[in-house]
Amino acid sequence: MSTTLNQSSSQPRQHWVIGNWKMNPNRATAQTLAQTLASRLVETPLHTCKTAIAPMSIHLITIHEILMKVHTSPISLVAQDIAAARQTGAFTGDISADLIRETGAEWIIIGHSERRTIHHEDENLIGLKLNAALDAGLGVIWCVGETLSEREAGQATQVVSAQINAHIDILTKIDPRKLIIAYEPVWAIGTGRTASPEDAQQMHAAIRQLLTEIRAPLIQTSLLYGGSVKSDNAHSLAKCPDIDGALVGGASLDADSFLQIAKAFDIA
Ligand code: PEP
Repeated sequence: MSTTLNQSSSQPRQHWVIGNWKMNPNRATAQTLAQTLASRLVETPLHTCKTAIAPMSIHLITIHEILMKVHTSPISLVAQDIAAARQTGAFTGDISADLIRETGAEWIIIGHSERRTIHHEDENLIGLKLNAALDAGLGVIWCVGETLSEREAGQATQVVSAQINAHIDILTKIDPRKLIIAYEPVWAIGTGRTASPEDAQQMHAAIRQLLTEIRAPLIQTSLLYGGSVKSDNAHSLAKCPDIDGALVGGASLDADSFLQIAKAFDIA
């Protein structure tokens, strides 16, 4: 376990660096990337930071087999989406949380801005997916974040707080070990623009305060920053007291970059 001691708690919070591969890469490259990451993390283990990767759903089983060949896998498996529907049946194109669980995935990304925007996922659907995931025993990597116009209007904290408050019913009952929150300002995702460490820290502190007001044990929730994290900006983000890791898109497709980011958060 790691690493950042919270002022109000003697428990260290877990650090995570999670690669969101999105709709990349093809099967052969995905296999090579997973194999490379697993081998290198076995050769040079991290001390405190956990890692995870989120390949496309069609690759989950193959990647799980690769990770399981390593005696104790240093990488957890994450799925990028689940259906709101819980049972098998007439849901063309969907994959339920239980079926995702069968692939070996332990975590699921929910509320990513690309799902909110491209697939018009609203808070109602996000709530259904959060509940479906937790009922199936998956941990959730729950993404929140404001758009550029919302930030420029001075509404960033209000928007993110509303996204979290929309699911208070879940937060009042969730096992904190099953929850990771990723603050991902929409304007920083895939754009090369990163929130300054000061702005990111300020938002993370606000999220932590809100979570703690909702329920004291949630002070332990790992809060990740996401939005154009690269090896060259990871260290300054990792120095922020409320940033417990990163959700990494583009840079996670390169083994060296991903591992350098993970090392930046591997803080004793
Ligand atoms: C993401 O997809 O969650 C993300 C943060 O992407 P990128 O690192 O490419 O901005």
